[in-house]
Amino acid sequence: MEPSESPMAVVARYQRNPPVDLDSIARDLGIKVYKRPLGKAIAGQIMRDRISGGPSGFSIWVNSEEHPNRQRFTLAHEIAHFILHRDLIETGIVDDTMYRSSLSNYYEVQANRLAADILMPVRLVKAWRVSLQAEAVGRRRTAARSAKGDIHGGSWRATFAIIGAPFS
Ligand SMILES: [Zn+2]
Repeated sequence: MEPSESPMAVVARYQRNPPVDLDSIARDLGIKVYKRPLGKAIAGQIMRDRISGGPSGFSIWVNSEEHPNRQRFTLAHEIAHFILHRDLIETGIVDDTMYRSSLSNYYEVQANRLAADILMPVRLVKAWRVSLQAEAVGRRRTAARSAKGDIHGGSWRATFAIIGAPFS
């Protein structure tokens, strides 16, 4: 990563093509990610970690015992804390399974919103909507043998599978 690149520029680079590659975003931000069992109460955490953190001095820990879609959301949430709140992180932020921590709820809501934006960039959501519309058109034109349904049909499902449902 170029030193001049902003964190959001790093994120944007990986939003060009689905699926958004969270592991590469974390790596390029200089964050080391660990996926480990963290117990039933904890979704994830971000720590100041000079020894086992990445070049940024931070490590993120994701509870590997949660559903893969949850783990994806947790990683995006902790990346969001790094981008928005790294100056507020004293030793670390531990998020419970409701994404509550020692930070105020205001900051947690901010992290949840940015996490959603990282996982579901506007561009991908637009593509998903277009595919849905094309599929509907395709169904209506089946009698006319329109190729549209064949081109676009089912692609929205793939898009959604990529984005994932964070709370399933
Ligand atoms: Zn949090």
